[in-house]
Parts: sequence; structure tokens; C-alpha cells
Amino acid sequence: MPRSASTATMAHHPRPRLERFAEAQLPTEYGELRCVVFADTDTGLEHVALYTGDIAASEGLLTRVHSECLTGEVFHSLKCDCREQLDLAMRRVGEAGQGLVLYMRQEGRGIGLGNKIRAYAKQDEGYDTVDANRVLGFDDDLRRYDIAAAMLAELKVRSVRLMTNNPEKVSGLEAEGVVVTERVDHMVAAHEHNREYLETKRTRMGHLLDE
Ligand SMILES: [Zn+2]
Repeated sequence: MPRSASTATMAHHPRPRLERFAEAQLPTEYGELRCVVFADTDTGLEHVALYTGDIAASEGLLTRVHSECLTGEVFHSLKCDCREQLDLAMRRVGEAGQGLVLYMRQEGRGIGLGNKIRAYAKQDEGYDTVDANRVLGFDDDLRRYDIAAAMLAELKVRSVRLMTNNPEKVSGLEAEGVVVTERVDHMVAAHEHNREYLETKRTRMGHLLDE
């Protein structure tokens, strides 16, 4: 039986090598944000930090560590709640006047876009999101947190209040040395299409969601 991947996966990765590649101001619907691009020199992937306010040396910084979701965020797919979660995080950061969103390039909980669509095909056959990944041979969650931890260190953030419903994200970051002073509920509304997905998150992946 595949185990929850966080610790096993981290062990496979050498320490990430990140280059702080570029940064500029980015006007958004949620206010003027600072956009910093980190290049992972091992994978070629570009991860993004979006923040507002003075975050260096900050304690308990309102923070979202968010994994990219092309289908949800760009195509407005209703199979997941990624776009709503990202929008909510950016709105909260903008309203607070100080906060950070780390946008991690790990599509489909780390399995990649093509494999995510293959998993969707399995879901069409009746598997839930966890079992769909398992029948394709993937662990439940291949997201890694060492890169986010390295970005937080580079941005000199001392500790975070993490916007997430997922306790494993808290422990995954803590295992990489991130100090999480508080988990902040990050609820978005359920609707007809994502209800099953949210229910699987709640019952099978330990997310702290209202029924
Ligand atoms: Zn999504």
C-alpha cells in the first residue's frame, strides 16, 4: 500500500538549488504585489513568490504555499478548488497589506499535467482522487516542501501563519525547518462538481473541512 509521500519523497531530493532570478512590481486585482521568480537550477522550473508589505524578518507572516493547477486556475475547471483557494489567498494578502503567496510549479500534486488528466480519466471510471492516483502507480501526494522552505529562507521570513486546511502541509513544511505559528482555515465553498473532491480530501486525506 503506498504510504503518504511527504517524508519518503523528501528523502529522494538533494537540497534544492535556487537562483533568485528576477523580480518586479506586479499590479493585480488584489493590489500591487512584489513578484519574485526563483529558478530551480536542477529542474529548470520557475517558482514564484508574490508578496506585499515588508516581509524580511517577519514573524507569523500570513502565507499560502500553493501548487499550480492549470486546469483549475486557467481553464476554470470545476473538478477542484485550486483557483478559489489561490484567489482567496491573494485577496487575504492584499487586504492584510502584508503577506506572501508561494506559487509552486508542481501540477497535479506533483505528478504533472498529463498524469493528472490520466487520473481524471480514472475518476470518470468511478475512482476517487486518491485511488485514481494509486491505480496509476503514484503515491497520494508527491508535493515537496523543501523548495518552499528554501524560498522562505531566501526571503528571510522567520515564521508563518499558514493558510491551509491541510495538516500534512503544515507538518511537511515543519519537517523542512519552517516555523508555522498558526494554521489559518482557508475555506472555499463546495458546489455540485467539487463536492466529491472536497469530501475525499476530508475523509481520505485528513483535510480539516466542514461537512
Ligand atoms: Zn486544481
